[in-house]
Formats: sequence, structure tokens, C-alpha cells
Amino acid sequence: MEDCELCGRQTEIAYVALVEDVELRVCPKCAKGKKIISSEGRGRAQKGAAAAKAEKGDGPALIEDYGRTIKEARERLKMPLKVLAEMINEKETFLNRVEAQRTTPPEALVRKLEKTLSIKLIEQEKIGESRRPGIKGEKATLGDFIGTK
Ligand SMILES: [Zn+2]
Repeated sequence: MEDCELCGRQTEIAYVALVEDVELRVCPKCAKGKKIISSEGRGRAQKGAAAAKAEKGDGPALIEDYGRTIKEARERLKMPLKVLAEMINEKETFLNRVEAQRTTPPEALVRKLEKTLSIKLIEQEKIGESRRPGIKGEKATLGDFIGTK
């Protein structure tokens, strides 16, 4: 559950809607009649400009578990999400979604996070990402991650 950023109502399904050029996380009621960028529901029922752009492959190639990397780095620095959000001038709710890997951060934000937390989030090119011999427990890790959320 989270709060709709427009009316404050608690909502199970949140939509990212464009309201006067600002991305807001809103409840289904408030989402009506707005330009929807993405929805929390399963799959990508709605295709917004952002989704179309991502499919083109313009965005940064993020590492697999960028969300966890951000979270761990932040926790290592004992930095509350709120503080990080203020530091890089982003919405706490949005960062929360990035950490949960429910949304892909735009490149500008990725750069800011990398700088602020001293981490690498961009996948280095051509290191044979799909075949990494000898890494065990990759499946288990993925399973754990899905299991917790
Ligand atoms: Zn609402």
C-alpha cells in the first residue's frame, strides 16, 4: 500500500501519471483521464513514452541488481532514503521504487546515484554478461529477491 500523491488516499495499485509535466504516483481514481506513464500492475499493460524509449535501448544498461546495490550502498553509509532523496533532488517514493527495481531510473539519476554513493550501476559493455561461468547461486539469489517482495 502506498499513498496517492494527488489525493493522499491509500492505494494498492499505483499508476505513474504525468500531471502538468510532473510524474506523480497516483491511485487508479486519480489516474483516470491523466497521461499514464506506467502502472504498478503486472506486465506493461500501458505503454507510455518512457516504456517505448526503454524498448529502443536508449537508456543506460543497468546492472542486474541495481536496486539492491543502491540500497546496500546507502545502508552502508547509514543514509536514510529521505536524506539521499534530498541530496540528489529526487522524490523519496521514486527512489524507493528504484531500490525495489520497480522502475528504471533515468540516466541522469543513475549518474547522480553513482556519484553520491560511490557505486557503479551501469553494466560495463562486453564483459560477456550472459555467460559468467563459475558463479553459483545466481538463481537462488534471484529467487530470494522475488520472494521478499
Ligand atoms: Zn488519488
